[in-house]
Formats: sequence, C-alpha cells, structure tokens
Amino acid sequence: MAVLVCGGAGYIGSHVNKQLYKEGYETVVFDNLIYGHWEAVKWGHFIQGDLKNLDEIEAVFKEYNIEAVFHFAAFAYVGESVVKPEKYYYNNVTNTLNLLHVMKKYGCNKLIFSSTCATYGEPERVPITEEMKQNPINPYGASKLMVERIFQDYNKAYGLKFVVFRYFNAAGADPEGEIGESHTPETHLIPLVLDAASGKRRDIKVFGTDYATPDGSCIRDYIHVYDLATAHLLALHYLEEGKESNFFNLGNALGTSVLEVVKTVKKVTGRDFTVTLAERRAGDPARLVGSSEKAQKMLGWKPIYGDIDIIVEHAWKWHEKAEY
Ligand code: UDP
Repeated sequence: MAVLVCGGAGYIGSHVNKQLYKEGYETVVFDNLIYGHWEAVKWGHFIQGDLKNLDEIEAVFKEYNIEAVFHFAAFAYVGESVVKPEKYYYNNVTNTLNLLHVMKKYGCNKLIFSSTCATYGEPERVPITEEMKQNPINPYGASKLMVERIFQDYNKAYGLKFVVFRYFNAAGADPEGEIGESHTPETHLIPLVLDAASGKRRDIKVFGTDYATPDGSCIRDYIHVYDLATAHLLALHYLEEGKESNFFNLGNALGTSVLEVVKTVKKVTGRDFTVTLAERRAGDPARLVGSSEKAQKMLGWKPIYGDIDIIVEHAWKWHEKAEY
C-alpha cells in the first residue's frame, strides 16, 4: 500500500512527505512543478503530472495501490486570486473534483486536505474555533471552502472519509535543514524579512501600522511546518482507525505581530536592516489567531516548536543554504 502526496514538491507537502517516508510509508509525490521544486522531493517516488489531466491521475492509481491521498496541490496567492479567480476555481476546485473522481473509481476513500484560515474571512473573534462562521473575503478562501463542502457531500453519498486542516501561517523549515520554504514570487513575511537580513532585499515593508493591535501591525499565528506535518500523520492514523471525517484548525493560539517578527529576525540573525512603515495591504484582517484545541484533543497533536524564535531560527538555517 502507498500514499499519494499531491503537491508534495511544495512547501508543506514536502515536509509531510519526509515525515511519512521516515515513518515507513511508501510515498508517491505527484506535482506539476509549477510552484513546487523537484529538489524538495528527496523521499519516495516522484511523478510529474497535473490534476487537470484525469489520465495522469489515473496512471498513478494504476501503478500503485493507493491507500490514502494527501492533497496540497493548490494555487495560494490571495491577491492574484482576486484578479484571476478563474485560475483559482479551475485549479483548486475543478482539479480536486478530478482527483476525487479517480479516487472513487479506484475505491480509495481516505483524504487529508489543506484548507486555510482564509475560509473564515474577518473573524468575529479570536482565537478562531472550527465551528465559527466561514465567510471568505477572496476567491482563494472561497475555492477552499467550496472544496470543503464538496467533501461533505461526497462523504454522505460515496463514503469519502476526510480530514480537512485549516492552516494558519505555516512557517519555519525542516529542523534537520534538508528542505524549507521557497516561493517564486515570494510574498510571505518571514522569508522576506530573512531576505532583508541577508542583504537580498534593500528593506522590509511593514504593511500597516494603524491596526487596532498593541503595536499597530497585523497579528498572525505562525505555526512551524514540522508541527503541521506531524498533524497530517496523526490524521492518517485517525482515518486508518476508521474515525469520522472532521475539520481541524492548525495554529498555535499565539499571536505575533509583524513588528515582533521583524524584531525576532534581527535578534536571531544578529543582522540589522531597514524597516519601512508602509500602507496597509488590501484584504488583510488585523488579527488571525487559531485555536487548535480540537486537533490536540481528537488527534493527540502536540506542537513542539511553538516559539517564534525557533521558527525563525530554523527558517534562517535553511535560508542561508537553500538548495532551491
Ligand atoms: N506582511 C508585511 N510585509 C511583507 C509581507 C507581509 O508587513 O512584505 C504582513 C502582511 O500584511 C500580514 C503578515 O505580514 O499582516 C503575514 O503575511 P503573509 O503574506 O506572510 O501571510 P498571510 O497572513 O497573508 O497569509
């Protein structure tokens, strides 16, 4: 039996692939390499393919006896999703339907899926819990919410068993330094601040300093990618034990402001750099912090790298020797 990791050449998928492999699973990474990196697939089998092509998905199910599927393959640039919604709905929704179609055809009914806190939109309160109203404010979040709904209908009609994770801000890198975060274009705060620290950028812009937060900058819940990956393995065990489909937030319930991240990077790297206070970025909620009590209780998940200093340390270690 093997497990399929769609989008396993990407940031979170590659970290999950490593942990699955180390735990003894035969893994098959399927990735179109539009945003993923072949260099990140250091474990298991690799097939370059695209979820838009049913025959390419089917070829994988013919070759391997797939017991469960991890689905990370999505476009995830919020800003781009606003101007190119078609790209997001095709890739994130239609292509997921293709994957579900082939899974159903081959009798594979276990799915672990990457959703996002962007499905909540502007939260009524923090920390956000799973039963709170989901009201996405951009097509990216909406595409993920649509897929969440599809899973529920497939669960009732076809017996699909799923675990959906709503991630907060994935950050950090493999503690052993073998893989890490690399996006082109890069829009995420921590890699950009590290670029400023290493002199690859002239400065870091802080988007908005007039939010209703203690220091005026936005607060996010940074969660170590290693801890995120661990939760996925627990989710697989949970489904293997025959438990019911479920939705879980993955965050730290700890808020860190943009200015605090900048300060931490200066401390951890020992480098100074220019910080420019800039206008707000459109569509940014002031504060996004998630409660993961449900995942801790029901999956037995125990994040071990909650400290922002460690997250930045691991990210910096990778940043300084990144292979891709
Ligand atoms: N941010 C910033 N400068 C940057 C990039 C991001 O001030 O160059 C802020 C952004 O406005 C948000 C936070 O950092 O408040 C985290 O942004 P990121 O894009 O990393 O993740 P998001 O929360 O949007 O998923």
